[in-house]
Amino acid sequence: MNKIYVVGMGPGNERYMTEEAKDALNYADVIIGYTLYINLLGDRYQDKELLSTPMKQEKERCLLCFEKASMGKTVALVCSGDAGIYGLASLILELGKDYPDTEVEVVAGITAATSGAAVLGAPLNHDFCVISLSDLLTPWEKIEKRLRSAAMGDFAIALYNPSSHKRADYLEKACNILLEYIDGDRACGYVENIGREGTRAVTCSLSELKDTKVNMFTTVFIGNQGSRIINGRLVTKRGYQVE
Ligand code: SAH
Repeated sequence: MNKIYVVGMGPGNERYMTEEAKDALNYADVIIGYTLYINLLGDRYQDKELLSTPMKQEKERCLLCFEKASMGKTVALVCSGDAGIYGLASLILELGKDYPDTEVEVVAGITAATSGAAVLGAPLNHDFCVISLSDLLTPWEKIEKRLRSAAMGDFAIALYNPSSHKRADYLEKACNILLEYIDGDRACGYVENIGREGTRAVTCSLSELKDTKVNMFTTVFIGNQGSRIINGRLVTKRGYQVE
């Protein structure tokens, strides 16, 4: 049976990878991924065949995996964070129906919501939603509906893809929708470059967040009604009685 591992490498370099993910990369003859992730892997896997494809060529990247696997090579496809959270795990499983001789194994990774939450404190320590603001594959109307539903349900929220060159004002648009349901003083925060050089964490209010420009390597957190900024950390209360 041919084999492809779909590996979540966590937010940054190898330190953030699970042992299972490292094992999968060690078993692999070929490691395939977006250029940035291949570079983050560093020197350790230099004896492997390392192949990178540019962004927005996700289908080509997955087909390359099947092509290499059908040559009898063990393949690892690397994704940042978790491969099953805005990653390539589903695409490769969908394409896999045409490759019955190839087994696909998904290896979990630490997603930006949890690695970023740890940097800020504990913003997701109750029911939470993860919402991507990218409308490349999802219509904006649906994103808007999900933002409204999350706000109505008093979920803590982690926002992925809060910005890009073409979508510089999407975070502001999202905050304006949330502000229809949530007070401007709601505790929020964001983390840039989690697990990478230049990690930067900021806590702020929802009104301040609305006027903030973030880049695409940022994960944004919106607290629920019980969230507070305590000693500079963003904390969503679990509900324990402390006083
Ligand atoms: N599969 C990835 C998410 C890919 S979508 C995961 O599970 O983490 C890309 C978005 O994820 C980015 O726009 C950003 O919002 C978030 N993200 C991924 N890595 C990040 C990092 N190191 N620092 C901050 N945000 C990150």
